[in-house]
Amino acid sequence: MSYAKKNVPFFNYPRAYLDDRDDLIRIFDEVGNRGAFIMQKDLRDFESTLATYTGAKHAIGVANATDGLELAWMAIGLRPGDEVICCSHTMLATAASIKTAGGTPVLVEIGDDNLIDPNAVDAAINPRTVGIMPTQLNGRTCEMDKIMAIAQRHRLFVVEDAAQALGSKFKGRHAGTFGDAAAISFFPAKVLGCLGDGGGVITSNDSLGDKIYQLHDHGRDVQGEIRSWGRNSRLDNLQAAILNHRFNFYENVIRRRRAIALLYQSRLECLDELKLPPGPDSSSNHFDVFQNYELECDRRNELKEHLASNGVGTIIQWGGKAVHQWERLGFTCRLPRVESFFERCLMLPMNMFVSDDDVNYVCDQIINFYRG
Ligand SMILES: *Cc1c(COP(=O)(O)O)cnc(C)c1O
Repeated sequence: MSYAKKNVPFFNYPRAYLDDRDDLIRIFDEVGNRGAFIMQKDLRDFESTLATYTGAKHAIGVANATDGLELAWMAIGLRPGDEVICCSHTMLATAASIKTAGGTPVLVEIGDDNLIDPNAVDAAINPRTVGIMPTQLNGRTCEMDKIMAIAQRHRLFVVEDAAQALGSKFKGRHAGTFGDAAAISFFPAKVLGCLGDGGGVITSNDSLGDKIYQLHDHGRDVQGEIRSWGRNSRLDNLQAAILNHRFNFYENVIRRRRAIALLYQSRLECLDELKLPPGPDSSSNHFDVFQNYELECDRRNELKEHLASNGVGTIIQWGGKAVHQWERLGFTCRLPRVESFFERCLMLPMNMFVSDDDVNYVCDQIINFYRG
């Protein structure tokens, strides 16, 4: 077989602007003319959309999801020595939010689904444990019934890292609404992205919602009264206006991402060298939004090079390291399952800018690599 060589970048950042350019310019102009830059109607509208959509009682726009996670732990009130269990297969930001809020992250293994292993969580609990922080990774929600049962048994707080999981569900319930609070990211390459940094915290706990609100705006409550020390971690009103616009098409985004995942699956499931993520219809318990399409593969580095030389951009997530493998941060544990995952993982292009032809081309190159 011969192919016209294509270029399929992993994520085409300029298109995050260009595909939407006319609408975005209209929004800049409209918001600019109102001088509506900080904490204006667009932000309030977006917060209420986010709460309604996820089913959370409160949503607070914040500067980014990392801040949101940290603010959630600050509001809960971590003290020195308090341990929070999270998975080492996550972005460093998950563990960092525990640390910067004053606690100690305790890293544990993945289960068969490559998400936090509930048995490992159970085994890590000790008298210093105060919380669990599952990551709803790649747009898939963990088996939250198991996590919440453990949390309830031991009276632990749960903050979900739902940065990648807006719209993802487990047993019909939205990611971010199982625990005490959660943060969602609107980084440009996320499932719902703005044109810079942005995040949201959701919670259904009134007093936690009040505290997070105060912390994110100089200690002020909704009436503008100072209630506590705080800082500034607000979502820009302009970014909120962009998010309001983009949210109108969000169901299409999810549908498209799931269709891409199905196409990858149908083309690649014939290869024993690959372990694919669960397909979009593989379980009625899970509704995945496919923030990423991450597979495990034999001869990973060679495959990555082969794809690069054929114009296909892929990513080995997070610099190819699990959180506990950043030795300078002082971790000493060994987590063999996570470590072997990071030797085999690869993310294929998965976003609104890849066409079916692009996906087929990527799959052709992979099949050529193993069978050519
Ligand atoms: C993107 C991401 C974050 C951080 O989000 P920011 O908005 O960039 O701070 C945290 N956790 C996970 C799993 C992420 O993917």
